[in-house]
Amino acid sequence: MKIKLLELSKNFGENKEVFSNINFNESVDSLAIIGPSGSGKSTLLKIIGGLLSPSSGKMYIDDESISFDENYLISYRKKIGFVFQHSGLFKHMTAIDNIKIPLIHVHNYSEKKAEERALELLKRFGLERDAYKKPNELSGGQKQRISIARAIAPKPNFLLFDEPTSALDPEYTVEVLDIINELKKENIDFIIVTHEMGFARHACNKVAFLAEGKLLEFGESEEVFKNPKNDKLKKFLSKLLEWNI
Ligand code: ADP
Ligand code: MG
Repeated sequence: MKIKLLELSKNFGENKEVFSNINFNESVDSLAIIGPSGSGKSTLLKIIGGLLSPSSGKMYIDDESISFDENYLISYRKKIGFVFQHSGLFKHMTAIDNIKIPLIHVHNYSEKKAEERALELLKRFGLERDAYKKPNELSGGQKQRISIARAIAPKPNFLLFDEPTSALDPEYTVEVLDIINELKKENIDFIIVTHEMGFARHACNKVAFLAEGKLLEFGESEEVFKNPKNDKLKKFLSKLLEWNI
């Protein structure tokens, strides 16, 4: 996907500036956004996904100018898959219904086509036996895999993940990261906000470092991790590596 950000700024009220004048113009297929807590990673991801509007600046996705007008955004969001830290599944619905219902009501699938698509994905993610369970009968890892299945079910143009593993135990983290990595084989582009540096380094082609209201570094993951240029990024990485996390 192509992302072009021109002088993009976001503030929440007068004295709460999150970032300012971000310029970015790149093609990415798998991008990790890293940076300290509170640096604006989620805010930036939500703007890219049309869930929040910037305070000023312009954004183009795949050469299309994004207008941030609510009517425009409603159809824009339909072409994007989202996965957040907490699965956000409907608690009163079974796993399969969580995938099917949005396909029917938001994406105009027939009942039969929605059922087929949901079953296909549950099978692919090793969740067939969980199809008729409700979220409270599933582990955190299973819930996240279902929310990934739900996100990719309507064949979105790209996927946005906001710390999809940060609420999970380590063994579940691996199974969720494995699935995201699998998506690469199918050429589904994605952007992931993550603290999993191993995943950012080895499973994402590009990395962007956001800190102190600026996009301070961007490049090929291997290069950025091996040879960080920005001092704040060096500090950020060495702090994490001190405990090997
Ligand atoms: P990150 O994801 O990097 O931890 P966020 O994008 O969540 O950072 O937040 C960036 C900053 O914006 C934080 O200081 C946060 O408190 C603030 N912020 C985020 N959302 C809102 C909001 N809806 N209203 C006011 N401030 C917000
Ligand atoms: Mg965040």
